[in-house]
Amino acid sequence: MRPTEGFVQESSKHQVKSEKQRTHSAVSTDARAVSTQEITHTQARDVCTPTGIRVGPSTSFIKLRAGALHPPGAPPDTGAPARHAIGRDHSLPTASQPARFTAGALAAPDGLGFADDRMKHAISTAAHGPFGPPMAEAVHACVHCGYCLPACPTYQVLGQEMDSPRGRIVLMKQVLEGTLPAAVAQPHLDACLGCLSCETACPSGVVYRDLISPYRALQEPARVRPWIERMKRFVLLQTVPYPARFRLAARLGRLAAPFTRLLPATFRPMMNMLPAALPPATRWKAVYRPAGPPRARVALHLGCVQQALDPEINDATISLLLRHGVEVVVPAGQECCGALGWHIGAADDARAQARQNLAAIPVSEVDAIISNAAGCGSGLREYPLILRGTQWESEARALAAKVRDICEFLVTLGPLDPPPRPAQPLTIAYQDACHLSHGQRVRSAPRQLLELIPGTTLCELPNPDICCGSAGTYNIDQPATAAILGQRKASAIAATHADFAASGNIGCLTQLRAHLPASFPPHRLLHTAVLLNRAWNGTLTAPTPQPVS
Ligand code: SF4
Ligand code: SF4
Repeated sequence: MRPTEGFVQESSKHQVKSEKQRTHSAVSTDARAVSTQEITHTQARDVCTPTGIRVGPSTSFIKLRAGALHPPGAPPDTGAPARHAIGRDHSLPTASQPARFTAGALAAPDGLGFADDRMKHAISTAAHGPFGPPMAEAVHACVHCGYCLPACPTYQVLGQEMDSPRGRIVLMKQVLEGTLPAAVAQPHLDACLGCLSCETACPSGVVYRDLISPYRALQEPARVRPWIERMKRFVLLQTVPYPARFRLAARLGRLAAPFTRLLPATFRPMMNMLPAALPPATRWKAVYRPAGPPRARVALHLGCVQQALDPEINDATISLLLRHGVEVVVPAGQECCGALGWHIGAADDARAQARQNLAAIPVSEVDAIISNAAGCGSGLREYPLILRGTQWESEARALAAKVRDICEFLVTLGPLDPPPRPAQPLTIAYQDACHLSHGQRVRSAPRQLLELIPGTTLCELPNPDICCGSAGTYNIDQPATAAILGQRKASAIAATHADFAASGNIGCLTQLRAHLPASFPPHRLLHTAVLLNRAWNGTLTAPTPQPVS
């Protein structure tokens, strides 16, 4: 049998069950009539896109799915932590204990019988250590329906089954079973962004994050890479997570910039991502106390590369928390969350950083651990998986259970006094960072806060669930696909003609600023916390109109 033969057979066998899917679509369409708050929320803002919102196939599907699978009797999605029940009963807003819609649970109420279609596998869970059971469960939960395909950015760009979530699940399954050489599957798995859009889209509750990162971690030790790739990986892992080293590397990189074309091709995307200049290094105090008695006490995770690229994000986060009466502890000794290494198979690096953060963050002494970088927040919530089977697993669960995005936390403080009215009404386009919307299920909270700014109109982007191509080091490792996705998203932002755009992740900001057209200068794309802080400070003013070319 040729290496891919089994895959092809299995894949074709798993093509969409047309009759069943038609039935499911009908169910979903009925559910749409009921309408979720999310749908209403989106439709209400369509008017601010001059070119008209085009609700793409993935967007429309996801809205259908959200309505169809909202747990019976569950409260609507209001943005509060325990209420982001998009597609599964998400009683904890963490990846640590996701109560899931299983295929069986899905089959029971609507009679679709998906339980019969769950993927059969021969993965030996014992052979794959602590990651074996969650990986096998993720494979088993897949019912081959294909609903994730239009939601997958790489399937949209590359257009073949093996670059879709369903195709990748089959590839990983076969490698884990020992029936397909890992090298055959590798290019398609390397092309995965890890954006988790497929998790949001999946009606069967496949927890894709339980599969892709553990798979990469297990494969990495045996993987043979060219020396130049090994060197690039070493440079990334030894500089990006460490702000001081990153600053030094950025300085050296700028000196080498005139010679970029002489460097090996694999290093050029990294050079192209280097900022022209970095703001001065910032040090934060150990504790920030509000004027009155604190209403809550939180620990702030500072992020790594974010500290060097845009320290205003942490300043703004602290300012917002103090303004709303929250005491902020900035734990000394904290490190990169580990997500960068975790997503590229460097599990030892990720575990070491996770353990360091467990030691540094006083979990039991704070009400929440605040993250303002979507990738970091999602990474922190994955600690129980990263440290699965180790002595630190229960500590990891305790930490993950307290992680909150800054916007998610602010809305839990109750009704907030709105910021002062800006001099002119503003339009703001909001870009969902994948590791906020898919990774942490935080969608409503940033929108609720931005809408508090008096006179503000919020613009929704078309295809909001599709990644901008940032995804950790993806825009360095897979620059061609990343550039296509970045240009699409940046063009969509510019087409809104909004005064500002906001997003909750430094990776997205960096990627999109590199691709924004001249009509939408990079300084108008801000981190959500920065934009909100300027609004509350009364310094948010509409930009000077650009001359029309
Ligand atoms: S994580 Fe993103 S890129 Fe990867 S399979 Fe899922 S949707 Fe596609
Ligand atoms: S991952 Fe989910 S949406 Fe995709 S084919 Fe499997 S069950 Fe269907």
